[in-house]
Amino acid sequence: MTLLELKNVSVHYGRIQAISDMSFSVEEGEIVSLIGANGAGKTTTMRTISGLLTPSAGSITFEGQDITRMKAHVRVVQGISQAPEGRGIFPGMTVEENLDMGSYGRKDRTKVSDDLERVFDLFPRLKERIKQFGGTMSGGEQQMLAIGRALMSNPKLLLLDEPSMGLAPQFIRQIFKIVTEINKQGTTVLLVEQNANQALARAHRAFVLETGSITHRGTGKELLANPAVKEAYLGVG
Ligand code: ATP
Repeated sequence: MTLLELKNVSVHYGRIQAISDMSFSVEEGEIVSLIGANGAGKTTTMRTISGLLTPSAGSITFEGQDITRMKAHVRVVQGISQAPEGRGIFPGMTVEENLDMGSYGRKDRTKVSDDLERVFDLFPRLKERIKQFGGTMSGGEQQMLAIGRALMSNPKLLLLDEPSMGLAPQFIRQIFKIVTEINKQGTTVLLVEQNANQALARAHRAFVLETGSITHRGTGKELLANPAVKEAYLGVG
């Protein structure tokens, strides 16, 4: 089943066009990766899907429902949750309070405590540091917290914006493994990354974004083997 579909979406910042006529879909159960260079429009795409930006043209549907003009907080209730680039956790709140914020407005409190257990299973470090202020956690830990907080709304679609950014190599591997684990547990994932190798290796399907348009699409494996993608994004000729 198609979970998310973008049809001919364009996004502008004033007169600057950041996304042009973009169309793609995410099927239920997939990991889909969006790769591209700095400024290609990856974050803009994510913010448009989460509802922080409104397209200037085109439409977005989620589970067949038109959400193009739906407010961001309503999209969270519908099942779309974002762990933003740069983490965006609340530095003056504890780990526990940050995670609580992720479940804000949910009425199914028993399920919320199950989801908290799921987050602690994925990230035991967060359980150990439950009373620590978010702002004093390391970069990798803050990334875990941002993903954990996004999971606390029990999303159908998890949007991950550059989860490996700024992390040491051992943390990068760990974060990608956890992304696969989250997906295996039943959450569909849309992943934006500059770390193209890992993002393609982990993806069922992937898209390459260049200056606001999709230039390549295929399975993760196909794009890993594509000579043009290799040369531009994988650091090999
Ligand atoms: P990076 O990997 O560097 O974060 P990105 O692929 O996520 O890049 P975006 O942040 O989506 O790229 O930016 C796409 C384009 O839109 C860029 O040319 C950027 O300068 C422009 N842009 C982004 N935010 C704004 C803004 N608030 N006002 C004007 N232009 C913007």
